[in-house]
Amino acid sequence: MDKNNFDADVAVVGLGAMGCMSLWRLSIRGISAIGFEQHTPGHPHGSSHGMSRLYRTACFEGADYTQLAILSKQLWQELEGVSSRELLELTGMLTIGSATADVVSGTLKSAQQLTLPHEVLDAAEIRSRFPQHLVSDSDIAVFDPDGGVLSPETALSAALEQSVENGAQVFTHAHVDGVSTTADGVVIRVGAEEFRVRHAIISAGPWIRQFYPIDQETVRVTRQVMTWFRARENKIESFLPSTFPAFIRDTGNGSGAWGCAMHGGMDVKIGREGFDGPVVDPDTVDRVIHTEDFDIVCNFARDYLPDLEPRPVAAQTCLMTLTPDSNFMIGPHPSEPNITILGGFSGHGFKHATGVGEVAAALAIGEPIAIPLARFAPSRLILNPSPK
Ligand SMILES: Cc1cc2nc3c(=O)[nH]c(=O)nc-3n(C[C@H](O)[C@H](O)[C@H](O)COP(=O)(O)OP(=O)(O)OC[C@H]3O[C@@H](n4cnc5c(N)ncnc54)[C@H](O)[C@@H]3O)c2cc1C
Repeated sequence: MDKNNFDADVAVVGLGAMGCMSLWRLSIRGISAIGFEQHTPGHPHGSSHGMSRLYRTACFEGADYTQLAILSKQLWQELEGVSSRELLELTGMLTIGSATADVVSGTLKSAQQLTLPHEVLDAAEIRSRFPQHLVSDSDIAVFDPDGGVLSPETALSAALEQSVENGAQVFTHAHVDGVSTTADGVVIRVGAEEFRVRHAIISAGPWIRQFYPIDQETVRVTRQVMTWFRARENKIESFLPSTFPAFIRDTGNGSGAWGCAMHGGMDVKIGREGFDGPVVDPDTVDRVIHTEDFDIVCNFARDYLPDLEPRPVAAQTCLMTLTPDSNFMIGPHPSEPNITILGGFSGHGFKHATGVGEVAAALAIGEPIAIPLARFAPSRLILNPSPK
């Protein structure tokens, strides 16, 4: 314990994408920090596994998300530099659909608002440059040349290695049983042990409800399935990172999908776009893959990416944590200023993890924040309860 009877300045509870990046950004400032993870970081039970995550700079979700994505990209590249690991493979990003589809019009609006490099392609241009995609004459695409694919497991381990090198302590297989506030700080309980810190960042992903009495309608944890499809024998060249940008496709009939090139030793990844999935408990969720889990993505591959084999060669479950307005929770607990809440990162949080970690580190030590946070305020969902 230090001279002020604190074990560290800041504790980070949960070392998924958000927790690992928060710990790294704290450690880089020389803040003494402890991280707790109930499993091994990079484990497949939460939300930050599966060998790839799409990165988009121009976010259809709005200018605030786009600003966070821009900051995050700088920090992904910083983490690549200090760790000497490749974390973000720039493949470009294609958002395809009708001009009025929210994902297309929103991406274009953000790119224009923040004057980001982008191209708008009509159907003929999509067919000529990206013939892997079958499009109709009314489809257009926004091409974001700064988009790409992140490597989640490598990113988490790079951030933790850097954190430890910078002096942070990491406890794995350490289940946090309780977080309580005191007059001057926060007590973290792990089994019979207690850790006293000045500030805690709660980044427990799908397990956030352990710490706050939030009901299932306010923060929903849902089961998702990621699938990987093999390119047909003579079409492998068409699905390499150099030829096949990451994509989101709005089909106009609810069967849209996102995906990316062969990455991280895996085949072409496809998942369902805008699919909430069944509400589950993260500790008892069915992690077995069933045929009906991939029927719709198989139809998508058949109808829109016919150079892929029609059945997936791999599939894995993943949990998504959704808020009612689909916006993240990043900010102070409404009545406990010593606690920062990170949660509800839904199906598009990973790309922002370094930016979220930077914001969380700044909030924890009272630094000014450069990113607009109003839309992310936890107070809109967590009204006043103290942590359990
Ligand atoms: C199928 C799917 C595809 C996605 N694709 C993309 C994409 O392409 N691009 C993108 O940007 N985003 C994507 N996302 C979203 C992104 O992956 C998530 O938003 C992000 O990984 C969430 O990270 P997290 O740190 O909040 O949660 P998690 O990664 O789940 O981390 C929370 C951690 O807290 C730990 N924990 C919980 N309770 C305790 C406790 N009591 N004690 C100790 N540790 C605890 C857990 O074990 C876990 O490791 C996707 C999500 C899904 C489900």
